[in-house]
Parts: sequence; C-alpha cells; structure tokens
Amino acid sequence: MSMDASQEATAGVIAEKKTGLAAIARQIAGCTDCGLCRGRNRTVPGEGNPDARIMFIGEGPGFYEDQQGRPFVGAAGKFLDELLAGIGLDRKKVFIGNVVKCRPPNNRDPQPDEIEACGKYLDAQLATIAPKVIVTLGRFSMQRYFPGESVSRIHGTPRRKGEMIVVPMYHPAAALHQGSLRRVIEADFARLPGFLEKVLEGETPVVDRAEVPPHLKKGTAATTPAETAPATTDATPAAAESQQMRLL
Ligand code: SF4
Repeated sequence: MSMDASQEATAGVIAEKKTGLAAIARQIAGCTDCGLCRGRNRTVPGEGNPDARIMFIGEGPGFYEDQQGRPFVGAAGKFLDELLAGIGLDRKKVFIGNVVKCRPPNNRDPQPDEIEACGKYLDAQLATIAPKVIVTLGRFSMQRYFPGESVSRIHGTPRRKGEMIVVPMYHPAAALHQGSLRRVIEADFARLPGFLEKVLEGETPVVDRAEVPPHLKKGTAATTPAETAPATTDATPAAAESQQMRLL
C-alpha cells in the first residue's frame, strides 16, 4: 500500500530525527569533554523511538550499560521495562537516555561539572526528538529542571517547562534499594498515559486534589512513601493497550 502525502511527510521527519540522533551518538562516542571518558568502556547515548512522545532521563550508565553501550540494561532496567509494560509501552516506543553518557567510576554520583559538560548532548537529543513529556528518573535529572527540589516532595507531579511537560519520578533503582518505593513508582507511572493524553489535547496536566498524594497536601505531616502509596494502580492491560493505541 502506497503512503499518502501526510504519511510520507511523517516518515521523512522520523528519518531526519533518526539521522540527527545518530550524528549526536557519533559525537558522544568521540567525546573527551569530561573526566568520565577515561574510565568508560563504551559510551551510552540512549536509545528508542526518534519520534517518541515520552522521553525518560536517568542519571548515568552503570556496569552493564557501560559494557553494552545501552541504557537501563541491569536490574533497574528490568524494572523500568516492567513499568513501561504496565502502561502498555515498551522501550521501542519511548526514548531512554541519561544526564551523563559515560559511566562514573564505581557508580558514584555524576559531578556537577560532568553533568554540565554532557548537557549539550542531552539538549541536542531533546531538540531532535521534541518529546511532549519528559520523565526524569532520580534526582540528577530532576535537578536539571527543578533545582533545589527533592524527588520525595514532587515525584509524580507534572509541571510545564516551555513546550514540554516534565514529570519527576524516583529512579527505578530506588525501588531495588527500598522495596516500599515500588508501589509509589508504579502509581506514578500509572498516571503517565493520562498526562500525555491531556498534553496531546493541548492542556497542561495537573494533579487533581483527589490525586494529590497525602504527603503533598498542605498542612499534612510528612509520611513515608510506603504510607502514601496507593494499594493498586488502575493501569489494567486492556486499558493500557487502548491508551497506547490512541497516544502512540
Ligand atoms: S560523560 Fe559526556 S561530556 Fe563526559 S566524556 Fe562522556 S560524553 Fe563527554
């Protein structure tokens, strides 16, 4: 079946984005702009749909990512895959990257100068993909958009940043270290399709009063994530599949 003019235009845009991302990945592969280049085995530019509507930004490559040159391939990546599947997505439909593209030694935190040096690549990827929604995973990517905030205070709360909506979330690895966070992360992910749907309709999604987790409500004493996590999520496979068809 031949493509109509609109399909051809879309295919052309996607091909252009793919070419742009490949060029950025080549620049990253040769980059020596910060000290992380000295300990890396492979650079990890990120991967996924060049025309993704949702882009996930983590922190930096770990051991397995550094070996394979791919983001989120260890235990945290397996959990991320499960979270995506829970809302009817997989990593071919989204784009997944990090704030630094080379592994910090011994998985230490990326340093401000390293994040700064690597920021140009993330900016270029964002400009190329032009996602509608950015999901920050962990505090380093969150601080790029919300300096001085803490993930525990604002996770799951979408905010407009220019043309994009940014939704801060815990890093999936956090749930591996603190089991009670698993349900919190699952609940935050379950809201994502709804946020995206609102964005595609031209609205800025906000967390309704009914959706505001108790620990974010005014005058409420701080509670632990385990206390605030909903018992279940409403992202049934059937609902998620129907949302995926509409949104992607
Ligand atoms: S972390 Fe980023 S800035 Fe540093 S060497 Fe790797 S690609 Fe270059």
